[in-house]
Amino acid sequence: MANVKKWVYSFNSNKTEGNQGMKDLLGGKGANLAEMSSLGLSVPPGFTVTTQACLDFVSNANSLNDEIKKQVLDALSLVEKESGKKFGDSNNPLLFSVRSGARVSMPGMMDTVLNLGLNDESVLGLGKLTGNPRFAWDSYRRFIQMYANVVMGFNVALLESTLEDLKEAREVEEDTQLTAQDLQDLVSVYKTIILEETGIGFPTDPMDQLWRAIAAVFSSWNNPRAIKYREINEISHEWGTAVNVQSMVFGNMGEDCATGVCFTRDPSTGEKKFFGEFLINAQGEDVVAGIRTPQPINDLSKNESNKTLTTLEQAMPKVFGELVEVYTRLEEHYKDMQDIEFTIEKDKLFILQTRNGKRTAAAGIKIAVDLVEEGILTKKEALLKMNPEDLNQLLHPRLDPCVAKNIIATGLPASPGAGSGQIAFSSEKAHTMNENGEKVLLVRQETSPEDIAGMVASQGILTARGGMTSHAAVVARGMGKPCVAGCSQLAISYANSTLTVNGKVYREGDWITIDGATGEVIEGKVPTISATISEDFSTFMKWADEVRKLDIRTNADNPQDSKTAISFGAQGIGLCRTEHMFFEPERILAVREMIYADNVASRKKALDKLLPFQREDFIGIFNEMNGLPVNIRLLDPPLHEFLPHTAQDKLQLADYLGIDVDLVEDRCEKLHEFNPMLGHRGCRLGVTFPEIYRMQTRAIIEAALECSKNGIKVLPEIMIPLISLSGELVILKDECLDEIKKVFEEKQSEIKYKLGTMIELPRAAITAGEIAPHADFFSFGTNDLTQTTYGLSRDDAGKFLPEYVGKGLMPLDPFVSIDRDGVGFLVKHACIEGKKTNPNIHLGICGEHGGEPRSIQFCHDIGLDYVSCSPFRVPIARLAAAQAALK
Ligand code: ADP
Ligand code: MG
Ligand code: MG
Repeated sequence: MANVKKWVYSFNSNKTEGNQGMKDLLGGKGANLAEMSSLGLSVPPGFTVTTQACLDFVSNANSLNDEIKKQVLDALSLVEKESGKKFGDSNNPLLFSVRSGARVSMPGMMDTVLNLGLNDESVLGLGKLTGNPRFAWDSYRRFIQMYANVVMGFNVALLESTLEDLKEAREVEEDTQLTAQDLQDLVSVYKTIILEETGIGFPTDPMDQLWRAIAAVFSSWNNPRAIKYREINEISHEWGTAVNVQSMVFGNMGEDCATGVCFTRDPSTGEKKFFGEFLINAQGEDVVAGIRTPQPINDLSKNESNKTLTTLEQAMPKVFGELVEVYTRLEEHYKDMQDIEFTIEKDKLFILQTRNGKRTAAAGIKIAVDLVEEGILTKKEALLKMNPEDLNQLLHPRLDPCVAKNIIATGLPASPGAGSGQIAFSSEKAHTMNENGEKVLLVRQETSPEDIAGMVASQGILTARGGMTSHAAVVARGMGKPCVAGCSQLAISYANSTLTVNGKVYREGDWITIDGATGEVIEGKVPTISATISEDFSTFMKWADEVRKLDIRTNADNPQDSKTAISFGAQGIGLCRTEHMFFEPERILAVREMIYADNVASRKKALDKLLPFQREDFIGIFNEMNGLPVNIRLLDPPLHEFLPHTAQDKLQLADYLGIDVDLVEDRCEKLHEFNPMLGHRGCRLGVTFPEIYRMQTRAIIEAALECSKNGIKVLPEIMIPLISLSGELVILKDECLDEIKKVFEEKQSEIKYKLGTMIELPRAAITAGEIAPHADFFSFGTNDLTQTTYGLSRDDAGKFLPEYVGKGLMPLDPFVSIDRDGVGFLVKHACIEGKKTNPNIHLGICGEHGGEPRSIQFCHDIGLDYVSCSPFRVPIARLAAAQAALK
């Protein structure tokens, strides 16, 4: 017995085998059901079949092994004992919900079946037992609908339209107005349709229903929607889902019953206000499905669309009081904002789910700071809770308040941020428009998991139906996209591809704007302004700065980016690319003149024209970066990038140089390279044309002296790219030092500077010990180092790399997150060898990886001094560096 694997974990008031820490095995939902059950909350009894069982099921060609089945039957009898009901009994039937639950929540990805165990006999028993045949038939028709959908893969639109027709025939608006007889008739119509369409009768044996439902949940792990969601969210395909089988409680038994969802704090702003929605006499996902307008649970939850409706606090004050007690307890226990699902059966409260609620980044920061102030969290816990990538949302633009806007409708402010786009009425359309480079705004009646791809492709989502907890709202918040939901003034016709508001018609392709913070829908395109940073954000980031060991620098090529980066907390520039400055119209001709020069003298003449431009650029940047280091990379790209391409450009150049256009053509051909990425670029240009690097060095030092004369503190760092031999660095360093000496003499003043190199070729990394004595610093250029370590061009990898990741050959795209074993190995080796021969060497990274949390963890682990990333990623890097230090 001892070595039989445990596949099933019970939770009931006598025996609960799981806990909150077992998410990997029991899934998030199962682990939390177990935890709540242990806490003594009123959770309907049940059991969880593990994620391991799912993997076993999948590997056994989608079948459950006998041991799993046996353990399910054992657990089932425990539930029967506790509930006093019998599964499959005609007179006193135990009914189950069958619920999926993976390690992390995947909203809407895998569907729940409720009321499982009903058939033609037990529906009568249930009606008699409860004295409420209407309820029994309502439960049965729901069961058939859900089971047909989830387990049989039946197109339920056929069933739904029958329900709509019936409501129309009875002249009623809502499901709740249908009678027991109506529902009984509906059930037989449903069964007939299913039999006609599928050729199989609806299964009547409860045990058979249960096995097939469990199997359906397990197989749904691999349905296309679930796979897509995992891809978008980087969730492993190897985790599997658990299944929770739980005895039913009923929110649809009458007016003293209800079902609802609530958040312990506002998921949009983070404000400490209890917030939620519910529906009387309803079941399951009625609240989120947008079937009826949900009622607010309290006054704080009122908004434009529900302000006239009765609150739970008014309708059921005692139950509301219990709910308040429960949420307070859960929030303290989990030390986080909770998203709770509950059902009320005959005035008794049941908790069906709790989880750390999804929230906007702004709310996440506010909640973290508040929880620390309330003494519930430590600063360290607060820092570790926040996903650095989520800060992205905070730094995104809002509508410019000074611009007049024509508001055509107002819906619910479901997910903050602002977005403009051209209307698309379907997910597919949104996707294609986006592929064509258009900005899209997805406009739907309501969204469902099928719409995920369209939501990803859109600037924002606008729906006519659904509340603050609707699918559209929840998913948009998770994606950090603006969403206005439940905007009932919109009349959407999918058939005509039109959106009509107050008599005005908008068509596919028309521009509209939404403001997810106010719920406004605006005609046309409204300009946006960048985010302002809240006090809570500054507090939170200060905590991060207190613990992190890595400095955070930025990649910036101009004063504007430098300024933005400083406002986000950058501590210097880790990479200033000089070549970006070469493309401006008045400079490019001089750059081309330099390239075309066939002797040193004429090259110097052209360089003399560029010198003042470069000096001015550096002065601008040094002024912004007063007191902070600025690392400037000397010319790096292959020269042909600057060549004229169009006939007009060529003519203009010929004219400027006073030569024949054929000569221009000729020179272009000579400069052609078969593989420019590995060609005449980087320090190789410096070796062949030292006067280029001399001019740049002079511009840097002259600018630094000038600024410092004006009281600016300048810390220039000169960086030589693409070294593979220590000898390259030695001779180029001599050239630079000689030029610097000249400038010092001419200006009769000196300044401190550093001179170092990029490590971006495997040979440089391997021989770092030879290079280090000649360098004040190493800056790892991990973009090129990844390309050259893999022998893989980043610009071409897009065609096949996703498949590598899909097949599990690589855990992640190595251009996104550093490849620790290969590229990372070289970086680490270079650090160790470099320190041996130059203990004072300063170490940083300036590739794209410098802003990616997992790579930042790596940089921390190997003891780099700083990372450098784009200005908007600076806060993300600050937090990631703090987390790296805390882990
Ligand atoms: P999801 O993962 O989509 O949140 P759930 O498993 O939570 O799906 O089920 C959806 C809804 O079904 C729940 O919010 C709840 O209203 C209802 N439900 C689930 N289990 C039960 C149950 N045992 N009794 C009554 N309702 C249930
Ligand atoms: Mg669901
Ligand atoms: Mg749920």
